[in-house]
Amino acid sequence: MDLGGEFCVACGAEPPLFYDRMCKKCTLLRVTPIVVPETVQHFQCARCGLHEVGGRWVDLPLEELYEDILSRVLEVHDEVSGLDFGLAAEVIDDRNTRLHLQFSGEVSGIPFAEEHQLLARRSNSVCITCGRIAGNYYEATVQLRSAGRKLNEDELATLRASLNSLLAEMPPDPMFFINSENSVVGGYDVILGSKGLARSWARYLVRNWGGQIKETNSVVGMKDGMDVTRLTVLYRKPGYDIGDVVRWRKNLWRIGSWTGEGAMVMRINRAERTGATWRDLEKLSVQATLSEQFFVDLITQDSSVGEFLDPEKWTPVSISLPYDHSGNKIKVAKVDDEWVALPHLSVDDTEGV
Ligand SMILES: [Zn+2]
Ligand SMILES: [Zn+2]
Repeated sequence: MDLGGEFCVACGAEPPLFYDRMCKKCTLLRVTPIVVPETVQHFQCARCGLHEVGGRWVDLPLEELYEDILSRVLEVHDEVSGLDFGLAAEVIDDRNTRLHLQFSGEVSGIPFAEEHQLLARRSNSVCITCGRIAGNYYEATVQLRSAGRKLNEDELATLRASLNSLLAEMPPDPMFFINSENSVVGGYDVILGSKGLARSWARYLVRNWGGQIKETNSVVGMKDGMDVTRLTVLYRKPGYDIGDVVRWRKNLWRIGSWTGEGAMVMRINRAERTGATWRDLEKLSVQATLSEQFFVDLITQDSSVGEFLDPEKWTPVSISLPYDHSGNKIKVAKVDDEWVALPHLSVDDTEGV
């Protein structure tokens, strides 16, 4: 007998030895590669269906949910390598699902394969967002209004829909919820869970439709020695839109684009553009909105004058061509009973000539 040689510390068997100087048989007897509990509980919001995963409420497919549940409760021995698993879910009833699990890999270099079962029990809960809505929690109100007029139904629908587009672009946040919304005289109010969301939406509205925002904070109580405030954001959409023909400082212009502080306006009868603030633009009057402008075909034209058929009376009309004219079509609008030819703006391209 070779006294210097190694042998299994548990049974005295000859090498090869694996874990803790034990033979293959003793290693497999004493090392448990995988431990899976019999049951595990998981939570689902009874109102909106989101699942609680690692302290967050998320929408995820059941297969991923079960994998997440398994990863939370599975105990794997340090000696395990190359672990593979298979999962099959067997629905028992509305609350209970049995997960059939197959594992394979190596423990201290010895291949193993095991089957386990885990009963996943679903409990109803209420997610943060639904809890806040149920408790009528909110932080901010966004008021959609227009300057000096009512917003019409189409405008309201467009402005309101932009909140959904914005939410789709932003990373999800449990505070980004709509508490409630309602029509008011001349506009619409949306009550939101987050001040940040209210401000982001207001900036988005100004970027797309111009106009001004005004913020008001009001103190509604105290918490931990700090004032609890609510934010009201008043958004005023201008009474005019990109492409409209307006009379401003005695001349006709088209609204070209929004600048943040106001608009860039384009002179109609000559190549001139100028930036104007909201305050500058307060006295303008809309002469023809984009929907009141028409593309017409020219019957004849020379270098400065063209002729087209009046789209209302079907009689020929002579008109001074716009300074940027090319081709045989022009855009016209009726201002004070006279047809006026309009210089081109990029908004005209999206209308379907
Ligand atoms: Zn042994
Ligand atoms: Zn919920």
